[in-house]
Amino acid sequence: PVVTRFAPSPTGFLHIGGARTALFNWLFARGRGGKFLLRIEDTDRARSTPEATAAILDGLTWLGLDWDGEPVSQFERAPRHAEVAHQMLAAGHAYKCFATPDEIEAFREQARAEGRSTLFQSPWRDADPATHPDAPYVVRLKAPRDGVTLIEDRVQGDVRIGNDQLDDMVMLRSDGTPTYMLAVVVDDHDMGVTHVIRGDDHLNNAARQMQIYAAMGWDVPIWAHIPLIHGPDGKKLSKRHGALGVEEYRAMGYPAAGMRNYLARLGWSHGDAEFFTDAQAQAWFGLEGIGRSPARFDFKKLENLSGQHFAAMEDAALLRELKAFLAATGQPALDARQDAGLSDALPLLKPGVKTFPQLVEKAHFILAERPVVPDEKAAQALDGVSRGILAQLTPHLQSASWERDALEAAVKQVAEAHGTTLGKLAAPLRAALAGRTVSPSVFDMMLVIGREETLARLADAQG
Ligand code: GLU
Repeated sequence: PVVTRFAPSPTGFLHIGGARTALFNWLFARGRGGKFLLRIEDTDRARSTPEATAAILDGLTWLGLDWDGEPVSQFERAPRHAEVAHQMLAAGHAYKCFATPDEIEAFREQARAEGRSTLFQSPWRDADPATHPDAPYVVRLKAPRDGVTLIEDRVQGDVRIGNDQLDDMVMLRSDGTPTYMLAVVVDDHDMGVTHVIRGDDHLNNAARQMQIYAAMGWDVPIWAHIPLIHGPDGKKLSKRHGALGVEEYRAMGYPAAGMRNYLARLGWSHGDAEFFTDAQAQAWFGLEGIGRSPARFDFKKLENLSGQHFAAMEDAALLRELKAFLAATGQPALDARQDAGLSDALPLLKPGVKTFPQLVEKAHFILAERPVVPDEKAAQALDGVSRGILAQLTPHLQSASWERDALEAAVKQVAEAHGTTLGKLAAPLRAALAGRTVSPSVFDMMLVIGREETLARLADAQG
């Protein structure tokens, strides 16, 4: 069975590259009935914070990337990492190195002077343990010095790294704490990870990690190192180009489904499919569809896909996400009128909307509380003459049956009595109902908010 994992270091927010890595691992596992695990790589005690861990879990939750089981804390597993290092010591795959930083530096200087490789070669590699001093030591891997390490990467192809390029890496520091390289391998092995899908900035680490797998006689996972995300200009992704935390995309109001769809397309493709549902993405996602060149971030495409997801989303799901967005942006909970109005109006509000703020603006006539305060332009539409006409309209609306045809007829009748057109009367009516000059049609609004609220707003507008 497939087991993937996302292994963020909790030193900051969940950035867009991390979110994409998580998504790829989630899609791969979910599409194969496998497991998607979460490991918090919190061994760097100085830089890891509980706030960052919370922000990462939050970001994943918003994105809808559910993980299996409890998140694993890498730091808490340090005793297990040390245990493995000691197993390697006992088996002769590792050794205690007593070289001091000064000695290592001296080695490097001499190597430089003699034009040799400056990779440290420890004199303790083959030392007889009987000669060991009673002094602090690190545990180093006894890495092969000849031959090559072959990374059979599903994205990058076969990558060969000469073993003479890799020194005997430290696995346990002199204080007994494990290094990152050891911790990752032990954790991936113990968690049963079958596929490691991560950024290609870790490709070189894979070669070192394979040496540990080999020393322990463990199965090496399938590697897939994915190219990083670049800006639209092909350069390293900058803030301006979208290198933001997932939180910021949430605040900009992209729906999670649109974000998932867009992130999936950042570096992965399935024929010419652009829009897809989660079920489709899970069914189609595979390592063979991941490109070798860096994906370019493109806000326009994100917006377009988001718009398509607004159109495709079930109303109930959309309403839930809209409420979450409103709550997250500090708006008070909806009352019964607003709640009912939103569910009624969603089909009318959805078309053309690409972000939640756009939806909220279109829904202003529902969300606004009485008295509806007109914005500057709407206030201009409510001049003395217009107020007079609205006053004339009121009795007609009091007696009209609350249906589109009847409402239209009533408004038209009043407009004609004043020698004006329905279109002209619609402007102050819109201003009174929505406090805006742009909104859904006045009849749609009246039908959604109902007779009582309509009449109350007309009365408010007449002052
Ligand atoms: N913790 C590493 C990072 O945040 C990921 C390590 C891995 O995926 O193997 O980049």
